[in-house]
Order: sequence, then C-alpha cells, then structure tokens
Amino acid sequence: MTKEEKITARRVAIGVSLLVLILSVLVFYLFFYRERSVFVEKDYFPAKRVLFISSYSESFDTVDLQKEGIRQAFKGNNIQLDIEYMDMKRFDRKENEDLFYQSLQYKIKNSKAYDAILLGDDAALKFAMAHQEELFAGISMVFFCINDKELAITAGENPYITGAVEELYLKDTIDIAIKFQPKATKVAAIYDNTLTGKGDWKQFNNIKSSYPEYEFVGINASEYTLDEFGQILGRIEDDTILIFMDQFEDIDNNYYTIFESVRYITERAKVPVYRVSVSGVGDGLIGGRMVSYDKSGYMAAAMVLDLLKGVDIADMPVYLTGESQYYFDYNILRKYDIDLSLVPDDTVIVNKEPTIFEKYKVVLIPVFVFSLFCLCVSLVIVIDSLKRRLLMKDLQRSNEYILYQAEHDYLTNLPNRRAAMEKIELLIHEKKECTVIIMDIDDFKEINDSYGHICGDEVLREIAGRLLEITDDKLFYVSRFGGDEFLLIMNGAEYEQNEQYMHRIKQVLELPVVFEDKKHYIKMSMGIAEVKGDETEASEIVSNMDFALCTAKKSGKNEWVYYNVNMKDEAVKRKDIKNILNEACINDGFYILYQPQVDAGTGRTNGYEALIRLKNHLISPMEFISIAEETELILNIGRIVTKKVIEQMVEWRSNGLELYPVAINFSSKQIRDKGYVNYLKGLLEKNEISPHLIELEITESIFINNNENAMQLFEDFSAIGVGLALDDFGTGYSSINYLTYIPVEKIKLDKSLVDIFLDDRGGEFIENIIRMAHCLGLKVTVEGIEEKHQSDKVTAFGCDCIQGYYFSKPITGGEVALLKNPIKG
Ligand code: C2E
Ligand code: CA
Ligand code: CA
Repeated sequence: MTKEEKITARRVAIGVSLLVLILSVLVFYLFFYRERSVFVEKDYFPAKRVLFISSYSESFDTVDLQKEGIRQAFKGNNIQLDIEYMDMKRFDRKENEDLFYQSLQYKIKNSKAYDAILLGDDAALKFAMAHQEELFAGISMVFFCINDKELAITAGENPYITGAVEELYLKDTIDIAIKFQPKATKVAAIYDNTLTGKGDWKQFNNIKSSYPEYEFVGINASEYTLDEFGQILGRIEDDTILIFMDQFEDIDNNYYTIFESVRYITERAKVPVYRVSVSGVGDGLIGGRMVSYDKSGYMAAAMVLDLLKGVDIADMPVYLTGESQYYFDYNILRKYDIDLSLVPDDTVIVNKEPTIFEKYKVVLIPVFVFSLFCLCVSLVIVIDSLKRRLLMKDLQRSNEYILYQAEHDYLTNLPNRRAAMEKIELLIHEKKECTVIIMDIDDFKEINDSYGHICGDEVLREIAGRLLEITDDKLFYVSRFGGDEFLLIMNGAEYEQNEQYMHRIKQVLELPVVFEDKKHYIKMSMGIAEVKGDETEASEIVSNMDFALCTAKKSGKNEWVYYNVNMKDEAVKRKDIKNILNEACINDGFYILYQPQVDAGTGRTNGYEALIRLKNHLISPMEFISIAEETELILNIGRIVTKKVIEQMVEWRSNGLELYPVAINFSSKQIRDKGYVNYLKGLLEKNEISPHLIELEITESIFINNNENAMQLFEDFSAIGVGLALDDFGTGYSSINYLTYIPVEKIKLDKSLVDIFLDDRGGEFIENIIRMAHCLGLKVTVEGIEEKHQSDKVTAFGCDCIQGYYFSKPITGGEVALLKNPIKG
C-alpha cells in the first residue's frame, strides 16, 4: 500500500466510523424514543400528587390499559401518582366500599394533600361524589370510562369535577357485524345483573329502535347456571349477531374474569362473538368498535395536567363521547371467512401472524439501514477504486501516447529518428547482419518552395506509404529520419540481394506523386551502409550512410551509393580543407594568379583570367572551390578575389601599366550573395576602375535552380557595365538555348572540348560552335591550348581569343608587370 492509499484508507475508516455512530444514534432515537414525539409539549412544574381511584382491581385487564395511558401523559411532568383500587367488580357490596373508604380516609389523613383525583369507571365517580366533602374538599377531579351518561352529566355540574364518558360503540359494532354477517336477522347481547351489566343492557335496548328489521334479544348470564348458559350459546345460529357485554357472574354466584368468560363463550358459540370493550379481544372474540382504555386514561390525565397548570375547570366541560377504536382478531376473521376488505382502514388487527419483517422490524430496520450504509460505503470504495483504475489506465494510455509521440513522426506516423537510432543500436547489440539505407529526396526544397508545404507534406506521406507497402521479411523497417530523409533497414548484407531490392525501391518511388492534379516526379539519392555485425556505434553507421549519401548527391543525385572507407577519408579531407579555407578567409591566406588571354588575330595579350591560389597549401582551386561551394565560404572567397583583382589593377595602373580586362570566375553559388553587385560597383567606383575592364565568368549551372534570380543578376551586372562570359562551354548541358537570351558577350570553350575534338579528326565540331556563336554575335575564347597546332587550328576556325599553357601559365601580378606582351606565332 502506498502512502497515499494508506491516507485514503484511514480517511474512509474515520468516515465509516462517524457515519456508523450517527446512524446508531439515529436508529436508537427512532426505535427507542419514538414515543416521546407523541406527546404535547409540557412545561415543568413542581412535583404534584395525583390519586387515581379505580373501581376495579389491579388484575382487571382494562385497568392496565388505563394506567398505561395515564403514565404516558404524565411522563416527564413530575407527577407523583398513587393508585387505589375499590375492587367493586368482585365485591359489589356495602362492606367492601366502607372498608375502602376507611382505608382511604386513613391514608389521606396521614399524607400530603392530593392536587388532583382521577376517577376510573362509574363506581369510583360515585364514591368520590359521595365523599367529596370529607376526603376531596377543594380538589379537582377528572373521571373517565363512565358508562352512565346521566351520572357523568350530573357530576359535570359539580364545580370540582369534570371528565369523559365511556361510550359503548354498540351501533358501530352492530353496523359492521351486519356487513360481516349479511344473513343475520337477530342481534343478541350477553349481559348480567352486575352494575356494569345493567348499564350495558340499558344501552343495548336504547339503540334497538335504530334497527327495526332486526330482532334484539338478551342473554342474562346471571339468570343461568354456567351449563345452561353454555347450552344457550351452543344453540345460537349464524342468523344471529352475538355481542358479549358482560358475564361476570352466574346464578350460583360464581364470579368470572373477562378472560374466563371469553374463553367459555367463544368455545361454545358457533358464531363470531362481538364485543364493545377492549378487554378480551385476542382471546377468541372477533372484535368490534370499542373504547380505547389507554387513550381514555391518557386524555383524562392530560386534563389533570391542564388543571394543574391553572386551566379553569369551568372551561373544561364533560366529554360525552369517548375515545374509541376498531379492534378485530385476524384469526377469527379468517375462521368465519370474513372478507378482510370489509374491515375499516384504521382497525387494530390482533393475532395477525406478523411477517418476518414486522416481527423483527426493530432489528431488521437498523440491520437494513446499516447494510444499506455498508453497501453505500462499499459502493463508494468500489467506484473510487474503479475511478482510480480508470485514471491509471488513462495515465497509462497517455504515457503510451507520449511514448508513441516521442518515437513517431506526426506526419507519416513512421518511427522517427530517435526510434530508428534505437533500432540500429538494438541490431548492433544483437550482432545482426543488415543493411541500412538513408534516402534523401532530391531538390525537395524546390517542391516546398514552388508548390507549398502542403504539397511537400503530401509527397512525404505518399513516399512513406509506398515504402510501407513494400516492407516484408527483407525490408523490415522504415522510418522518417528527418526533413526529407527516410531510413530503411533490410535484413542481410549481401550485395546481389540488396541490389535487387534497391531497384524495386527505386521503381516504386519513381511513379509520379499526384497533388492537385499535378504529377510530381520524385528523385531520391541514397546512401547505403552494410552492417556486418562488428560495428559498435549506431552513430558510426549513420555517419557512414551519410558519406555514401553525400557522394550520391555529389555525383549527380538520383542514385544510390554504397559506403566505403575512402569516403570517410574523403570526408575528413574535405573537413580539413574547409578549416584551411576558413582560416585563409580570416588571415589573408589567398593570392591571385593571372592567366593571359591572347588575341587570336594579333597574338597579343588582350586580357587575363584571375585564378585563386592558397598561400600556404598546395591544394588546387578545382578541389577547394567545390568545397567552398558547399558552404557560405564561397561568398566570402568571391569578394576576396574581386577585391584583390581590383587592388592589383590599381597597382598595375600606378606602375604605369596599360590595363587589360580581367576575367573573374563567378561561382553559381554566389548568386546567394545579394550584395555582390553593389560590392563590386563600390570597389570599381572607389578605385576608379572602369567596369569594362571586369568580365565575370559564369557557368550555365547558375540557371539550374535560379532562372529568374540569374536573369535579374545579369541585368544588374549589365547595369553597372561589367562584361559576362559563359565559362566551361561544352561541358554539362551546354544548352545553346541559353545563348539566345543570356546577356553574355563571350563564350569560353572548355579544355575538354579541345582535348577531344582538336585531334586528328580535324575539329569541325569546334569550328561549328565558333561559327554558331559568331552568328549569335558572341565572341569565342578557347581554353586549354597547350600546343601550337591547337592554337593554329582554333585561329583558323576564327576563334577570337586563346588561353592556355601554350601562351602562358597563370602568373603573379608582379610577373604580369614584367611581361613583354609576347607574340607567338
Ligand atoms: P577554369 O575557370 O576553367 O579555369 C581555367 C583552368 O584551366 C585553370 O586552372 C587554368 O590554370 C587551367 N588551364 C589554363 N590553360 C591550361 C592548359 O593549357 N592546360 C591545362 N592543363 N590547364 C590549363 P586552375 O587555376 O587550377 O583553376 C581551376 C578551376 O578552379 C577554374 O577552372 C575555376 O573553375 C576554378 N577557379 C579558379 N580560380 C577561381 C576563382 O577565383 N573563383 C572561382 N569561383 N573559381 C575559381
Ligand atoms: Ca574560368
Ligand atoms: Ca573553364
């Protein structure tokens, strides 16, 4: 795990712990303190004493519910609650009531006064009213669960008493029973002769009139033995809605709890048994609408709280409708096949087998919430790690992209120079025999300059594509090595095989490249280095290839040349010469010789050609000029020669010599020296030398690439008045065409022509050239005349001027001064 991952893990752990804590608190609050939210806000007030007098006993079912309601209302209100039971259900006798009175009287006398009294059920209310003066004088009393409405209303008139009745929801219960038992024609009530029983029977009879179609009957349990009662129950058919109200006793004075009664009745009755009071529901009764004892207790206790807070009892009238609720037993509903959709929505269903979820809700919900939370956390972690993985992938991809970019050429998508160098290094490392080829497009600059870079790019792409197309086991690597150079690698280093492939490559590249409907014919020069497995440096192989390419370029381009050791020597030599030339340019290392040119007619010198020499080296200008031409050195040298010639003429003049025209060789490469014309003009003017005394010897190669520039230059030369001669006529293209439009006054026939044609064959060819030149109005100088017969012949052919060792080798300026104009003949 990295440090960052550790920090992230720790953060996640802290986050998870915090969330678990928050959730736990939330869950605890929701599930264990939920009841709190049910209550109305209660203000704090000092401890108050409240007495709850119940008509019944602790064991009576409804009492528990009432107590629960009271406690809930009092919760958090600093109430001290005492409970006293009259137990009147069991002992509905004067003695019991008296004993209760004595006991309570004793207790009240010997303790702090009560602040309020709660009275549960009719007997308690009656007792309180009867003993109000002695026991509860001046104390507010709230009654609840009172069956006798009239009693409640009477009690409500007392200024210290208020409360709520316990209504029997007989009508609602009968209404729903009719729905459950649509065939019923009778409504039967089980009641008894107890106080409660009589009250209930009274109410049952009171609603009779609301159901004229139904027969209302009563079963008074107090009038039968238990057996007789049971038999009566057994005879009840399903045309009867049976309501159990009371069966606390039988004729034999046996007393029954509600639970005992419910069990006895439901075991014997074949019909559902309804009830209007909550006790007993769930033990075999079907249910009904009934008083909610806890809600009643809660309500009464809430009224007590209001009184204790100072609400005037006069503002709290007796509630004549109680708190109620539908209760039904799920099992019994099913037993009697009752359609569940008939059961009202807000019903409390008891005995319904809870679903696993309902059963374990308290556990399941927190577990579910926690699981959900864990799931979320895991999801976050998974998403996070996925994101991280994607990020890593992205990174890797961009790394790969960067790597690809670093090793490929954007234009052709071929591996670039760097990749090619690595490839060669690998081959060296593996000691593989192979052949490395460097290709360079001839005159690519032309294409770019003339047709634009887009065309240039297209040509490069096309060539790359063609090279890729022919790659195979032999030619296995193609790269763009730079600008217009491609580097290819072939397997093996056998000459014959290589040659075959080179032809194939050339063939493929010779096909024209079409760009914007124009065909471009591409020529390539190539340098080839064969790698035999004993090379140690990639750079060495590349430089060998370059030597070969250089040689190919020099020897006229559009061909391939294999590298050999001499090339390296040659290159070294050229490098040395370059250094010498540089040094000579800086330190006045040149001097000029002058070769006389003789008038063919008179045999007298009528001009000179200026020929450069190195002061300290025996290197021929033939050699060093071509090297100078490879660099800017030639421009420098051109100006040096010009300056020296003019200075020499000034010297000759000051020595009283007659000045003859001097021809200065003007290299084609000097066309780049844009300031040359002005330079020459400046020198002539400064030294007061007539421009007619200067002749510039140009060669036709000046036209090859710079036709327009060349013409402009010639115009400039004419403008300042210097003469032009076309040198080396008869070598190269010797296009007679040029002669028709370039402003030269003279052509110089090259020594090679003299050597070839002025032999025994008679020299007609030369004669024809001289004639043709004369036709064009041009003068002719013949160069390289070494023999008398040669001189005689060219003279006979009508040439104007002769230059050659026959008359004089090039001589120094001083020697020129000594020269007595020789006439050879
Ligand atoms: P080029 O312009 O054709 O000059 C004539 C060359 O022929 C000279 O060689 C000259 O010495 C030689 N030559 C003259 N008559 C004879 C002869 O009867 N027999 C033989 N065998 N050779 C003869 P050089 O001086 O060695 O110059 C060689 C070339 O160097 C020149 O050829 C010219 O192209 C170049 N060069 C010489 N000086 C200059 C210069 O100042 N500037 C430039 N740009 N090029 C120069
Ligand atoms: Ca020349
Ligand atoms: Ca020449």
